[in-house]
Amino acid sequence: MLSQNVYGSFAEAIGNTPLIKLRRASERTGCNIYGKAEFMEPGGSVKDRAALYLIVDAEQKGLLKPGSIVVEGTAGNTGIGLTLVGNSRGYRTIIVIPETQSEEKKEFLRACGAELVEVPAAPYRNPNNYVRLSERIAKELGAFWANQFDNPANRRAHEETTGPEIWAQLDGHVDAFNSAVGTGGTLAGVGSFLRSKNPDVKIALTDPQGAALVRYYQDGELKAAGESITEGIGQSRITGNLEGFRPDMCFEISDADALREAFDLVQCEGLNVGLSSGINIAGAIRVAESLGPGHTIVTILCDSGSRYQKKMFNPSYLQQRNLPAPPWTLESAKPDV
Ligand code: PMP
Repeated sequence: MLSQNVYGSFAEAIGNTPLIKLRRASERTGCNIYGKAEFMEPGGSVKDRAALYLIVDAEQKGLLKPGSIVVEGTAGNTGIGLTLVGNSRGYRTIIVIPETQSEEKKEFLRACGAELVEVPAAPYRNPNNYVRLSERIAKELGAFWANQFDNPANRRAHEETTGPEIWAQLDGHVDAFNSAVGTGGTLAGVGSFLRSKNPDVKIALTDPQGAALVRYYQDGELKAAGESITEGIGQSRITGNLEGFRPDMCFEISDADALREAFDLVQCEGLNVGLSSGINIAGAIRVAESLGPGHTIVTILCDSGSRYQKKMFNPSYLQQRNLPAPPWTLESAKPDV
């Protein structure tokens, strides 16, 4: 028998990520705030878990065999997970991605052998939306469409792995969980599992500024009211993975606040995370403030900031959008020479 932490494959290396205490967020609120380090997944994001479940579910249903093609519409991370899991099991991948998504994710997908179809960003009701186009391509090729938004295997990944890991890591001492929503698999999956263990655990949706879902859960109107530079989150419809699930609390987080949390985390705690993680940390702080000191809150550190270097750590990109730059790039922070 192999000892602990020795894996037989890429798939076995997915999951069992550390929980890291976010020291400054905890000190500021008098709570214990933890981040689940999904940026340490082998494919680099929380979506590795969903990708594996989507593929294994399709294999069990007889929809995939060696040489099959997997097609998916994705902001990038699910595409990376599907491509790597697919490579390890003999499938090809065609990834449909809005051209607005980061160059780093697109370059990485190409480097891993995915066939990339870049499309202009368009809302879901538009037939040329990336998700709807991916469905058509899959149909035309007779390929497997992973359909992460409405395929319940995605949510099941988090119900069966992420949620139980968090519960076990904290020995059940968890008062609240929060995350932003792309497909809703993480929020609804972890949320449902934690509620099944303790119905008093509070589940919070923490989405970017103007997000339609925050409005929907607060007053029933599914309408976006703003823009955000975040990627992979800020969903504007009730996906299959969100059906039947309702958060206890909702908070809207500005891009400026999310950036400040991400900059603070890398500068003071050495963790370099992407902007959806910044949203989640700022969101966990809002949850902590609403519950009061002494509570334990868990959130997700979805992926690494290296996937967004040219955007969220690029002062000129940020200045053009009136957003704060990393403090260490400001003139006043540079040492005199
Ligand atoms: N953060 C990032 C960076 C993502 O790519 C995604 C998924 N698109 C999420 C958060 C949200 O995860 P979920 O799809 O489980 O809602």
